Amino acid sequence: MNVNPVASLFVQYLYYPTVLVFVVTLIQRRHMQEGFRKRYATLYIGLFLLALWGFSFFLVSYRLSDFLLLLFAGAAGVLAAFRRENVFLFRLTCLKCRKRLQIREVLFDDSNCCPVCRAEGEGSRGGS
Ligand SMILES: [Zn+2]
Repeated sequence: MNVNPVASLFVQYLYYPTVLVFVVTLIQRRHMQEGFRKRYATLYIGLFLLALWGFSFFLVSYRLSDFLLLLFAGAAGVLAAFRRENVFLFRLTCLKCRKRLQIREVLFDDSNCCPVCRAEGEGSRGGS
């Protein structure tokens, strides 16, 4: 009988999202000027996934209980809560007009504003 079905599932399938997140980090490298903070947020998320994968692998290898994953999730949650301004940067809607953002703005632009609001912001900044 499998003592850790959840960890086994993570070991089997967490590889793909982890690689995907690191590929996104590599793509974000080209947008360093406007998306520096988001690149680091993506890197933190990738490191979390990698750590979760490694921890699941550890649990499966030593046949330890899945409940230890809760401990890991708690530790990761506390860490993320303390560093939330560095991790939870991704918004799907514009901060000013609530318009839906393009995937490019969601992933590569730190301002979280649509092009119209960004242009307005830059215009008012330049004018005053
Ligand atoms: Zn806007």
